[in-house]
Amino acid sequence: MCNLTAPHFQDAEKARKYLENLRWPDGPVCPHCGGIEKIYTMKSKKARAGLYKCGDCRKQFTVTVKSLFEDSKIPLNKWLMAVFLMCSSKKGISSHQLHRMLGVTYKSAWFMTHRIREAMKDPIFSKLGGGGGIVEVDETFWGNRKPRGQKKGRGYHHKEKIFSLIERGGEVRSFHVKAVNAKTLKPIMKEQIDASAHVMTDEAAQYVPPRNQYGPNARKPLEDDFAKHSVVNHSHGEYVRGKAHTNTIESYFSILKRGLIGTFHHVGPQHLKRYIVEFDFRYNNRHIDDVERADKALKGIAGKRLLYSN
Ligand SMILES: [Zn+2]
Repeated sequence: MCNLTAPHFQDAEKARKYLENLRWPDGPVCPHCGGIEKIYTMKSKKARAGLYKCGDCRKQFTVTVKSLFEDSKIPLNKWLMAVFLMCSSKKGISSHQLHRMLGVTYKSAWFMTHRIREAMKDPIFSKLGGGGGIVEVDETFWGNRKPRGQKKGRGYHHKEKIFSLIERGGEVRSFHVKAVNAKTLKPIMKEQIDASAHVMTDEAAQYVPPRNQYGPNARKPLEDDFAKHSVVNHSHGEYVRGKAHTNTIESYFSILKRGLIGTFHHVGPQHLKRYIVEFDFRYNNRHIDDVERADKALKGIAGKRLLYSN
């Protein structure tokens, strides 16, 4: 069990040790050259705590060098607390709330949450639905800003579009896409879904090409790329007929949307993809506890180099 009174949330020095154990379970590794054999602890009075020197490349380092924490002036224990809070709140935690809870400026809190999301990007090793697994595919829309002058009305053209693929009993992968059509979605499906998968979608045109198409430009059905494609017809109320349903992805979207509405009132379109990463991360690590989930994110932070400055 872990709560916010744990020592590594209170004390920067204990936080550093916690991170060292996590990042280097078998002892320090030089981030410059990968050396492990000749690592010395710098113990002079001037040296800061946690400073090491590598005998191979002669360079110095700490546990945060070449990680997403590098160059941050925010104390490490506050970083660890931020990671824990983000990983343990089901619907996420806003920068405003973090700013109040951690006693850092709003700007710092915003910067921290974005960097932590960066760490939550899971490396993708395999496709979804390998070995004949079921993959549900669907899209949802977010936001309601309409271009000026446009009349109110239905349609989703002005909204942000989120496209998700979820393996039943497995992982979700979500994408912020520009448009919802076969041209934009099919390449993502082919990249993310194994050819042996059983794909389930609704009856929308992007998944089911119109009948009676001919010629070289005729769109191919999904069966051409995947072992099986089942279509759920929402309008006939056949949500669950045998196995053909998209309930898994619909419940994922409902968590995502409640989080976006409740916690992140004003998610700008330019940041949406990062929030999606955060929700995917929590979903994909739903079977481990809060501490393990936070540790996993911390490993991501420690193991990732800075991708953007600031
Ligand atoms: Zn080295």
